[in-house]
Amino acid sequence: MNAASAPKKFFYAQPAGRLDNSSMAVHWEHAIPCFRNAPHVWNVGGQDNVAVFLLDTGDGCILFDTGLNPETFYLTLDRIWQSGHDPRDIRKIFLTHWHWDHTANARVLHELSGCEIWLSREDEIEHQKHAGDTSPFRVTPYAVTDFYDDDRPVRMGRFTIRTRLCPGHTPGVTSFFFDDTDDATGQTYHVALHGGLGVDPMMRSETLRRYGYPEEMAHRFIRDCYELAELPVDIALASHYNQANIVPNIPADTNDYSVFVADYAWGDVLRNRAGAVKLFYPETYPEAGKE
Ligand SMILES: [Zn+2]
Ligand SMILES: [Zn+2]
Repeated sequence: MNAASAPKKFFYAQPAGRLDNSSMAVHWEHAIPCFRNAPHVWNVGGQDNVAVFLLDTGDGCILFDTGLNPETFYLTLDRIWQSGHDPRDIRKIFLTHWHWDHTANARVLHELSGCEIWLSREDEIEHQKHAGDTSPFRVTPYAVTDFYDDDRPVRMGRFTIRTRLCPGHTPGVTSFFFDDTDDATGQTYHVALHGGLGVDPMMRSETLRRYGYPEEMAHRFIRDCYELAELPVDIALASHYNQANIVPNIPADTNDYSVFVADYAWGDVLRNRAGAVKLFYPETYPEAGKE
């Protein structure tokens, strides 16, 4: 079979075996290893639902998101050590959005390392609104220290990280773009992480209304997905593993990131998500589902 006819490994897969409250008692059954996702990026979440990415900048570490919940933090901490890094070397946490399943361990990681905690201004408003929530999900307290500015990339060590506000899943979802070069081969990869691709029920009109968000947020999400899908991305990071069918593709050699180099994955997943939101608004998008 040649490369052109090989089935695609990475695609939007429906959530399955997700770690929810009913499976919380057996979260160890959802444990996954630490694995390398790009030359200087390791996936250290430790469970099969929500990702945590560790970037080794050469001048301290950056984390994207902080893990699903306090109960599985031991897995994340263990995977950080397994990746060859010291959690006390984390300098910055970049949160994709304010939701509990991405921010749960920001506070303890800050206590451990003294790191900065970054979020968008838009989602800090949401974070403050929901800071006291205990049901259905408890928002673990954390304090934001810095806000993204899409016109000012963050430079740290080997990385220059560009941000882009991508409202939809929440008003302040942030996506990240950077290049990563393999020291051994000299090959440079364009790497991207979309911060919020969960659309159902978030982008249904009744959900948007309930949260007090304008319906326009769903339409902007669609436009942004199609625009961003055109960017050349070699390695698409997935904040929930199902969003690019990651878990079945973790290689036996967890140091071999080459399996994740797939230039179609980013565009495919974003167009899939835009199409899924269109189905919620058939009057606006009569062509949806028939394309
Ligand atoms: Zn979310
Ligand atoms: Zn999430």
